Amino acid sequence: MPPECPCRIAAPVLAATPCCSAGRGPSPSDPQPDFPDIPPTMAHQLPALPFDLDALEPHISRSTLEFHHGKHHNAYVTNLNNLVAGTDLDGKSLEDTILAVAGDAGKAGVFNNAAQVWNHTFYWQGIKPGGGGTPSGALLEKINADFGSFDAFVEQFKAAGATQFGSGWAWLVLDGGTLKVTKTANADLPLAHGQKALLTMDVWEHAYYLDYQNRRPDYITTFLDKLVNWDFVATNLAAA
Ligand code: ZN
Repeated sequence: MPPECPCRIAAPVLAATPCCSAGRGPSPSDPQPDFPDIPPTMAHQLPALPFDLDALEPHISRSTLEFHHGKHHNAYVTNLNNLVAGTDLDGKSLEDTILAVAGDAGKAGVFNNAAQVWNHTFYWQGIKPGGGGTPSGALLEKINADFGSFDAFVEQFKAAGATQFGSGWAWLVLDGGTLKVTKTANADLPLAHGQKALLTMDVWEHAYYLDYQNRRPDYITTFLDKLVNWDFVATNLAAA
């Protein structure tokens, strides 16, 4: 029996160089991926983490990342592919899929799984080893202008994460040209509300329970002090 293809085992990078000849792998004529959208003609795939599994320790453990990325995020990708297979959503990009089913109660399963794929991919990009602290440049100026001060932003962001009842997400978004802090329940996301996401913090228990148990506020403080990738946020703002 041939050895199992590594992309069946580990999280594949967004399919730039697929190693599988079976299934729905791309041909050389397919368009190159335009992250985070998945090129048409391909099933949605789990993107690789942008850092090693133990790179965020001691703030987020390898064990948390193994479950959060390898199990939870991966399950959303698998569920989404199963739900859209053979439907008119098959082959659509992730964002087009989300926009096509947002608000359609009959497609809640597709929305929840597609949005959770998007949210988690975005979350991983928004954190990094040695992150956190205070941003600089145009991003800091914009935060100061729209929130009054960086400390005021931090206060709002912490409150959004702490007061999201049950599972959900805290966000920094651009809404009509103004920075705002928002929170969403379950899989909901700014894209479904005409807002541009700049940063998100996962406050589902699976994001922090192994490391912080019920101490969500400690996870939130660590997220801001040690993990936020402000370069990613600044890039998103500049591109908005
Ligand atoms: Zn999560």
